[in-house]
Amino acid sequence: MRKKVDASLLGKCLKEIWKCEPQSLLMASGLAFMEALIPLGASLISAVLVDGLSTGTDYNKMAVTAMIGVAILFAMNALRGRMYRCGLPHSEYCNDLVEWKFDEKNMEMDYMQLDSPLAARIRAQVQNDYDWGCGAYYMIPQFQRCCTGIIGIIASVVLLVPVFLQGSFWKHRSVFLFLFYIGIVTWISVIIEQHTYAAKEALKKGYDACSGRSNYLMRGGISYREGKDIRIYKAQPMIKSALREKERDVMVSAESRLEIRAGLWDGAASGILMGSTYLFVVLRGLNGALTAGSVVLFATAIYQFTENVKVFSKSRSEIFMNARRMKSSFTYLELPDLMKKNNRQIRKEDFTGEIEFQNISFQYSGTAYPALDNVSLKLRPGQKIAVVGMNGSGKTTLVKLLCRMYDPDEGRILFNGVDIREYDYKSYMKLFSVVFQDFKLLALPIGENVAAAREYDPDRIKECLEKAGIGERIKKMGKGISTSLYRDIEEDGVEVSGGEAQKIALARALYKDAPFVVLDEPTAALDPISEHEIYSGFERLVGEKAAIFISHRLSSCRFCDEILVFHEGRLVQRGTHQKLLEDQNGQYHKMWQAQARYYKDSGVAIG
Ligand code: ADP
Repeated sequence: MRKKVDASLLGKCLKEIWKCEPQSLLMASGLAFMEALIPLGASLISAVLVDGLSTGTDYNKMAVTAMIGVAILFAMNALRGRMYRCGLPHSEYCNDLVEWKFDEKNMEMDYMQLDSPLAARIRAQVQNDYDWGCGAYYMIPQFQRCCTGIIGIIASVVLLVPVFLQGSFWKHRSVFLFLFYIGIVTWISVIIEQHTYAAKEALKKGYDACSGRSNYLMRGGISYREGKDIRIYKAQPMIKSALREKERDVMVSAESRLEIRAGLWDGAASGILMGSTYLFVVLRGLNGALTAGSVVLFATAIYQFTENVKVFSKSRSEIFMNARRMKSSFTYLELPDLMKKNNRQIRKEDFTGEIEFQNISFQYSGTAYPALDNVSLKLRPGQKIAVVGMNGSGKTTLVKLLCRMYDPDEGRILFNGVDIREYDYKSYMKLFSVVFQDFKLLALPIGENVAAAREYDPDRIKECLEKAGIGERIKKMGKGISTSLYRDIEEDGVEVSGGEAQKIALARALYKDAPFVVLDEPTAALDPISEHEIYSGFERLVGEKAAIFISHRLSSCRFCDEILVFHEGRLVQRGTHQKLLEDQNGQYHKMWQAQARYYKDSGVAIG
């Protein structure tokens, strides 16, 4: 059963590689032919020449034979070199193409699925499998070695047949005893190789169970951006000790002991086989059972046969292991979308529609409490709504549901009176510009970051950056909006502060020009002056668009038409700032008092 599963996985991997980059497999197959046939071809030519010399064949005839043979070997060697060199970039490219499928999947799959514990678990497994070695980059050479083994075995047998049929050679009992002996030594070699391979895999599995921390750190858990914290908190010893875990040292020593034992046996077996083969055929040759050329041919063919059996056996174990490791990748790439997809389109004329939450409840999988509990609200065109509440009260979840990152467990969200599940997802996405609390910018030019595209309108980009309050700063940068962010790619990229990054993210939201703007803690990283600029220019910033404004700071929400107060996933109060303050027992009043006390104590003005 397991073999069947492995074979179907291997077939799937090879099919995927073929679809991505067929040249890589063609080159590998061609290379396998050359690798397997060149040594046998060389020995065949030697055999013909030796036989010719010993039987006194015409010199000219032999010279022509030798030249043809050498020319064929030369061409095969040249082809081998070409295929090897040419195959490498195809293999690398193929590996990238397969890996890009993950990026595509991450970008295209439902966010709900992307964020699920199941997807996280499979992602970790994929990473782990790749760390131990799998994917096209490994599989293509393994495929090539498997083919070399098979072709080598077949070609050796083909060469051995005429030798066997020569005279009375095959009739001698010692030939069968010799072949039996060769079979036993080869079989022991294969068993030892397989045992070593299985033992190494078991070691890796054992190590996996205790390597979570070092794996996390090795896979980019720390980058240059963590440099400050690591220095300040002297985290170097903690990180170094995790990277250099004792278990890893133990595993490496055990693995190297296994390899030494297997290598010793392998070397000894090859020596024994080669020595005894030569001894045997020379003795048989001296007895007159073989021609001199056949002695050469027999010895090489037997040696190549046993070597290729070993090559095949080893690469077979490796390629099946690789295929098994690719299982997690296929599972991830085939993860189904969880959300219902429909195709109702939203046209520009519909942009003035209203959004309504009807009795929405939602709980993240693996959590004990609902993040939103029976929430109902409406968002009308042009309306400015503030959403306030303590940490974890469900504010960001509200935005995620609004943008259909998740579907509610209960209730419906309507746009223009139609359940949002009826709309085409990409069309529905046109409605929103969101600056998430944990927004991300890319290490690409600022213009591309703002437009989220390679092509953009530079004047509009500058206008949006200006509105977001970062126009002047960008003008001063060497290449203006063509300046790259961060130094991951460009040496002259700029490192922007948290507040500056937030303003660029704000400009990106404005550039999209969607009818609903959502700002999740939009001023958390801004200095007081920038914050004041944003609030006082809020109308100018979002204009006639509807806006949802999420903030901890109650004083900054007073300009909104309505304030929604969330507590433990429930919408507990709603109204204007003044109206909410009047309810002295209300959550808003409590939060206001707490913040007022803090600002009074610290001497900061809240108005
Ligand atoms: P707020 O934005 O008000 O701080 P959130 O909407 O982010 O609150 O979170 C509401 C609750 O849902 C919190 O208890 C939080 O821990 C939980 N939560 C948020 N995101 C996830 C997630 N992806 N998976 C599981 N639980 C989550």
